[in-house]
Amino acid sequence: MNTTKKLAIVTGGGSGIGFAIATQFVQHDIYTVLVGRDEQKLRRACEELGPNSECYSCDLSDLHAIPVMVDRIIARYGHIDILVNNAGINMKKSFTDVTDDEFQAIMQINVTAVFALSREVVKHQLDKKVGGCIINISSMASQYGIPKVIAYTASKSAIEGMTKAMATELSPYGIRINCIAPGFIATDMSAKALDADPERKAKALGRTPLGYLGQPADIGAAALFLASDAAQYITGVVLPVDGGNAVGF
Ligand code: NAP
Repeated sequence: MNTTKKLAIVTGGGSGIGFAIATQFVQHDIYTVLVGRDEQKLRRACEELGPNSECYSCDLSDLHAIPVMVDRIIARYGHIDILVNNAGINMKKSFTDVTDDEFQAIMQINVTAVFALSREVVKHQLDKKVGGCIINISSMASQYGIPKVIAYTASKSAIEGMTKAMATELSPYGIRINCIAPGFIATDMSAKALDADPERKAKALGRTPLGYLGQPADIGAAALFLASDAAQYITGVVLPVDGGNAVGF
């Protein structure tokens, strides 16, 4: 079932920002494979997106499952043009209460799995010699210091470093690597972090010049742009999509 359409993988595509990115891709005729753990959620998302999408259930913390998934997608479609490393987890806890295992669990999903999946996809892109595009998702936590999210901050800072290193190494092969740093976007993840903590929410909005939470579709639009030929000369950037939050006073 090789497809002539561009093929994208969006991790965490069943909800929030990932679903919004998948929606933009599908609407622009990019065949999109949604990856996540919750099969029911993924299936519902695919039903909503229609025939230009399919889902693949995979726990990305299981690093052995990643090459198997990539090989299966390649066997089915022959190519992977776009990878969006969107799946991520957060944990809000005071610095000294975070255990080594908790720290490691965040790093495993937010960094190690991103590395492992990117590596497997890039191997195929290098084989096919047709270039490719990878979009990573970081956070305001890597732009400035946010308390009580130490592991998340370490992971998202690593993502930005990896973006630059990969962009430099892979540019000669026509593979572009960029990163989107979302500000405070209305999803389940941000609701968990902000709704029970009105002071934090007020602080987040207080330093967002546009004055409101972003929508997942705002990130979807940026991802579509970075994945498109209109961004063919853009690689290695971290693009804040944040209503000005990174620069607000
Ligand atoms: P979300 O709705 O909680 O989405 C996270 C997604 O990651 C889920 O679809 C989840 O799918 C997937 N996921 C988590 N662990 C996984 C695992 N082990 N294997 C496979 N998939 C896994 O949160 P979101 O707000 O849309 O966040 C998406 C990305 O944006 C994250 O990287 C987050 O750090 C980043 N971000 C969000 C905000 C914000 O304000 N919302 C701000 C900055 C950055 P399953 O449940 O199916 O596993």
